Amino acid sequence: MLDLNDPSLLEPRAYINGEWISNGATFAVTNPATGTKIADVTDVSVAETAAAIDHAHKAQKDWAAWTGKERGAVLRRWYDLIVENADDLAAILTAEMGKPLPEAKGEILYGASFIEWFAEEAKRIYGDVIPGHQRDKRIVVIKQPVGVVGSITPWNFPNAMIARKVAPALAVGCSFVARPAELTPLSATAMAVLGERAGIPAGVLNIIPSSRSAEIGQELCANPKVAKITFTGSTRVGKILMQQCSDTIKKMSLELGGNAPFIVFDDADLDAAVDGAMISKFRNNGQTCVCANRIYVQSGVYDAFAEKLQAAIGKLALGDGTEDGVTTGPLINDAAVRKVEDHIADATSKGATVALGGQRSELGGTFFEPTVLTDVTTDMAVAREETFGPLAPLFRFETEADVIAMANDTEFGLAGYFYSTKMNRIWRVAEALETGIVGINTGLISTEVAPFGGVKQSGLGREGSKYGVEDFLELKYMCFGEV
Ligand code: ADP
Repeated sequence: MLDLNDPSLLEPRAYINGEWISNGATFAVTNPATGTKIADVTDVSVAETAAAIDHAHKAQKDWAAWTGKERGAVLRRWYDLIVENADDLAAILTAEMGKPLPEAKGEILYGASFIEWFAEEAKRIYGDVIPGHQRDKRIVVIKQPVGVVGSITPWNFPNAMIARKVAPALAVGCSFVARPAELTPLSATAMAVLGERAGIPAGVLNIIPSSRSAEIGQELCANPKVAKITFTGSTRVGKILMQQCSDTIKKMSLELGGNAPFIVFDDADLDAAVDGAMISKFRNNGQTCVCANRIYVQSGVYDAFAEKLQAAIGKLALGDGTEDGVTTGPLINDAAVRKVEDHIADATSKGATVALGGQRSELGGTFFEPTVLTDVTTDMAVAREETFGPLAPLFRFETEADVIAMANDTEFGLAGYFYSTKMNRIWRVAEALETGIVGINTGLISTEVAPFGGVKQSGLGREGSKYGVEDFLELKYMCFGEV
């Protein structure tokens, strides 16, 4: 059992219209580090999803009528409660997802930072006054909430992916129906327990755990009372949702797959580049959509970088995320392990060398050794597909033009990183990379104050920052005649 200061935060029921619901049907949530069951969670049906949408639809009008300051005050209380309960929330997160406790706590505070940020932004949803186009006309533009937002989120950041979406939605006056990943619903219900205590009105926030992702997704997309879908997950599922949303012309925000290039030029500070690569590649055990997926190293520093990277990886400690000193947890499930194995097998069959790791850890379960592949080339699967695991493939390149062409040779465009100390090159490369986010001499780009999002098939829209509210707002242009 989980040892929580406040055991009521471990909530296995669904939260609909301000009530905690169980319906007899459940699915099990297990700990990936130990394989033990944490809880049997309410398995929400399609009919209950439709009911949650109805409640959200009714509640939204009143919530939108609150002033921004009033909504902001509720969000601020929610933020305070999340921070106060961060240890418990982190314990729940580690139990269901596997990341080490300090990283889990980091995620809770990162997620909370979006709630804090948008609590402040709630007061700043400004419109515009535009000089009239005729003498007897006046033009005013106001911004209004889109309405009910349906949210579908993945397991890799069970708290933060929801926080990034729910905070701007609630700040501007939308209501919210969230379907968390079936592997990690308990972080979502725990957030709702605190949301209720913070005073979020009934119906404004609804959490609908379910094992039936496709059916619930279909209902959220097809239901005409949902105005917008916000999704984080794979490009494959993003495309399905986009098709399903076409009938009702829903607005969409999509944070989809990445295939991030991480480029180390000859003129880079190599130690800094290794630090950045460690953060970007191995944070969350390689299971983030902005993880470095392809590491390109210029030939003059290739061997030195490979050596330093291996030395840094040697300091990682694999284990159960609740144990002291552990830096790296298990992968989420066996399919995730097989994907890493497939990428290694494919690469070695085409001439790559396993410089470090390369196999399942002796800890068993879904633990996998952090791995470095050298002599990686563009014909290998790792060049095109996101590995989502602790695999660092090192590609060798000769010129800046070559590496930009290779980096951009993908349908994805979420994050890109590069290390260089030459000012002119920095501007050139930053502008040339076809990604929504560029890390320049840094491997860590996530913050609530900046716009997060991708180009190409990595998605639509931006989360966080002053831009983050726009995706949840409609513009209304009012034309006043007869002045
Ligand atoms: P990941 O590989 O990060 O889990 P997915 O796109 O497979 O990415 O999953 C992201 C979220 O989308 C999860 O909550 C998952 O349950 C959900 N999901 C998967 N398939 C569908 C679908 N057909 N319709 C709606 N949601 C889905």
